Order: sequence, then structure tokens, then C-alpha cells
Amino acid sequence: MTDALRLPDADWPVLLPGWVWLCGAGPGDPGLVTLHTLNALRQADVVVYDALVQPAILDWAPQARHIYAGKRGGKPSPKQRDISLHLVDLARGGARVLRLKGGDPFVFGRGGEEAQTLIQHGVPVRIVPGISAGIGGLAYAGIPVTHRDVNQSVTFVTGHDQSGAAPGALDWTAIARGSQVIVIYMGMKHIAQIAGSLIAAGRARSEPVAVVTQATTADQTVLETTLGTCAEDIAGAALDPPAIICVGRATLMRQVLDWQALAAGHAPRDLDPLNRGRAADSA
Ligand code: SAH
Repeated sequence: MTDALRLPDADWPVLLPGWVWLCGAGPGDPGLVTLHTLNALRQADVVVYDALVQPAILDWAPQARHIYAGKRGGKPSPKQRDISLHLVDLARGGARVLRLKGGDPFVFGRGGEEAQTLIQHGVPVRIVPGISAGIGGLAYAGIPVTHRDVNQSVTFVTGHDQSGAAPGALDWTAIARGSQVIVIYMGMKHIAQIAGSLIAAGRARSEPVAVVTQATTADQTVLETTLGTCAEDIAGAALDPPAIICVGRATLMRQVLDWQALAAGHAPRDLDPLNRGRAADSA
């Protein structure tokens, strides 16, 4: 496997002293780390990592100092600026710095702010995208974020704003009307309010919802519920975060596409959950 991963040397960027690479670690499964992030892990002197980064991924950087810079989801983050300035200091001290974030650094990860601060301080950066939980995490639950029979668009929203409150700035009516599939990050705390807003804006209480916790890890769980009952079901299920919430009929596809259940020997629950009555690949 390791040999198979070897690409021509010339293709691999070199992490130079004084640089910061802002890399995505993916949603959890180490196999979802990109080769560029793996390449960075192997070269770094320092890895500054977030709460959502799986420990096994850090094992790829045994030579590096590992610095935890996690923040609690939903809480105000007064330390964000401190983290950014710490990265500046590390880089100025001549270290090869890897800033490792869960999922994709530019998707609800404040990667844009960190990169901006670094650039404002004259620190050279490289951005390495990762697989975001709202796409890859749902795929591990057998949910395609777009599916031809369901949606032509998908909306990614955050369940709370910087202060930890439900995102008042979001126009839930517009989202409810404009997007058949809504993927909610950090949505657990305010799910009652969010679901209520979507229903008030015209979405059916019966609309399917899936809540995927610890997606892509060995501890992944999936709760299937509806918009009308999700707040209650989530409260009753004692779920362990992190969780990604998918609202929309694409979640029904899990009844045929739950590939992890299939691999464990279960039969598909429904070969045609959207009742199209035709072969999936017909025109
Ligand atoms: N940059 C990350 C998102 C950071 S915000 C990304 O692109 O995935 C943190 C939120 O992401 C969590 O509250 C949760 O909603 C979601 N999340 C991240 N990893 C997850 C996982 N393994 N399973 C479920 N949700 C996850």
C-alpha cells in the first residue's frame, strides 16, 4: 500500500521552514485524508490540530510536535485570534507548520480567517482541501447530497453563529423554498428552532431527516427521523457529537445505498425508495 502511494518526487510540494500549510483531515476515517495532507504530515515540524482530527491521523507525523488547538463547538471562540497568531509565531521561528483541521479547512472551519491572518503577517501559506463532513460523512451513511430525482442544488448551513446562537442572519424561508436538500453543520443545539423555521416556511413535517454522528469513524451512528419529530428524537437518542444533519428526500436513498449495512450482510430495505418505478440509469 505504501509503495502504491508513492508518486513521482517532482509532484510533491515541499513544506519549507517558515511556511504554514492549512490542511483538511477529512471527517474521520484516516483513509479519507488526501495524499497532499499525508505528504504534509510527513514533513511537518509542528502539527497544530483541532478537536475533530482523529488521533490515528496524527500518528503519520511522529517526528512532529503536536499542539492541540481545539475549541468547543457552539461556544464563543475568543482564542481564534490567539491560534492564528500562534501559527504566525511558529512560522517566524522557522518551523514547518501544519495546521490540521477536520473536514475541509474552508468549510465552516475558520480556515479563511487563519489564512488571512497569516498572509497579513507575511507568512506564506498553502491550502490543502479536505473531504467535508457534509459530503463525505453523508456518503458513509449512504446518502448522496445530490440525486437527480431529488435536487439540483444543495445548501450547506451552520446551525449556530459566532456567538453560539441560532443563526438569525439566515433566511430560512429562502432556504426552505430554494433548496430541496439542506445539510446542517453544528445543528444539534438549535435543531428544534431550525426545524420549526423550515416547517413554518412550508416544508412538510413528514420530510425525511438523517442525523449522522461521528461519520466515517467506527462509531458512526445514523438516526432516521422527520422534520416534525427530529428535535424530539435527537433529544431522546443521547447522541454523541459531532453530528451532521441532512434534511430532504435524498436521505431516503439510504434505504438502498446503505453500503455499510450491505457489506455487513443486510439486504437493501427498498431497491427503489423514491418510487421511480424504473431502472436507476434509465434516461
Ligand atoms: N471543516 C469541517 C466542519 C467544521 S464545523 C468540515 O468540512 O467537515 C464542525 C461540524 O462539522 C460539526 O459540528 C459537525 O456538524 C460536522 N462534522 C465534522 N466532522 C463530523 C463527523 N465525523 N461526523 C459528523 N459530523 C461532523
